[in-house]
Amino acid sequence: MSMGAGDSIASGDATPVQAPSSAEAAGLPTGTRVNLLGLPRAELAAFCTALGSKPFRARQLMNWLYKRGCNRFEDMSDLAREFRALLTERAELRLPEIVSEQRASDGTRKWLLSADQAQAFEMVYIPESDRGTLCISSQVGCALDCAFCATAQQGFNRNLSTAEIVGQVWLANRELGFQPGGDRIVTNVVLMGMGEPLANFRNVVPALRIFLDDLGFDLSRRRVTLSTSGLAPQIYRLAQEINVALAVSLHAPDDELRSQLVPINRLHPIAELLQACWHYIDEQNGRSVTFEYVMLDGVNDSPAQARAVARLLAGHPAKVNLIPFNPYPGTQFRRSSETAIGHFRDLLLRGGVMATVRRTRGEDIDAACGQLVGRVTDRTVVRLGSRVEAARTRAAGVNA
Ligand code: SAH
Repeated sequence: MSMGAGDSIASGDATPVQAPSSAEAAGLPTGTRVNLLGLPRAELAAFCTALGSKPFRARQLMNWLYKRGCNRFEDMSDLAREFRALLTERAELRLPEIVSEQRASDGTRKWLLSADQAQAFEMVYIPESDRGTLCISSQVGCALDCAFCATAQQGFNRNLSTAEIVGQVWLANRELGFQPGGDRIVTNVVLMGMGEPLANFRNVVPALRIFLDDLGFDLSRRRVTLSTSGLAPQIYRLAQEINVALAVSLHAPDDELRSQLVPINRLHPIAELLQACWHYIDEQNGRSVTFEYVMLDGVNDSPAQARAVARLLAGHPAKVNLIPFNPYPGTQFRRSSETAIGHFRDLLLRGGVMATVRRTRGEDIDAACGQLVGRVTDRTVVRLGSRVEAARTRAAGVNA
């Protein structure tokens, strides 16, 4: 079943209501079920009140849903029978459906999840000795048109709803065999799958609240990372709303090259982006921003470029994560050599910037950074690069 962007209310086949219930009295529409998955605590409490129940029921519901991994109202044994019946009638806990799963030789697992009959998105689980990272999607496709990213080639279909974003973590826990009271399996969540999370701000922020909420997935703010291609104004908004780790896709030390690789740079150039990043860290009392830098052979990997990146970032709360380029069919880019990547990292370190190289995982199932493509049909192929060019040409015409 499909959901519109931002909707948590979906039309369902609710049993006809015999007598006016307290929910109707509270003005909730009949014949619809509210998807409680992804409702932040305050909204869930308001929903319980609207059903004529006590707001503290929200705590119990969240406990069942997120702590115990239970998504059937009838199994929530400490809720009154009548309340469970009312919930079954008026609400649902609807998860995205798993279409398929692939396992890589290094233990990485990738799932294709359905957004509706035609569209699908992906999530990836990356096990390591000391943590388990789930990489989740925020949109079906992406509109930002980064030159080296496979998702960009797909175009954009729609934003994921909060339930679809939260549902990824819920499903991964279930698929990975999480037991109530047992050890965490998903210890870290990164919004680095398909899509630009800050372009879906409205649905992403409530999902982040549930990741951090101690009645939700109860992850520490350092273990939830939002990665953005650089929507500077939204970084300021994010700083007001919530405190999570921030990663920013830098990929070039100068505006000319960055505008080619990451077209959003034409709207929000490097200086503006960095201002937003330092503001974020100030506001959040955070440690540092991680700057992602994809290593493209002969494009952005020279020693001069490494020194230029160091000059931009040294003295600021920044670290750099170098990502060896992951190829996909049809790309014109090549991965930098190991020597070039090592040298680039050394020059950053020498220039006073903390730098690491991201280990590539899940390559044999196309689960590595920038390789997630899901299934995006019926897309509005909004290519940001061409849109920006069109706007410029128009503006130039007006000015001439
Ligand atoms: N839209 C977000 C999340 C993207 S995925 C963003 O732009 O930050 C996470 C990282 O992988 C980003 O830094 C992205 O630029 C990078 N990436 C995209 N395609 C890649 C590829 N083919 N190889 C390596 N990294 C890639």
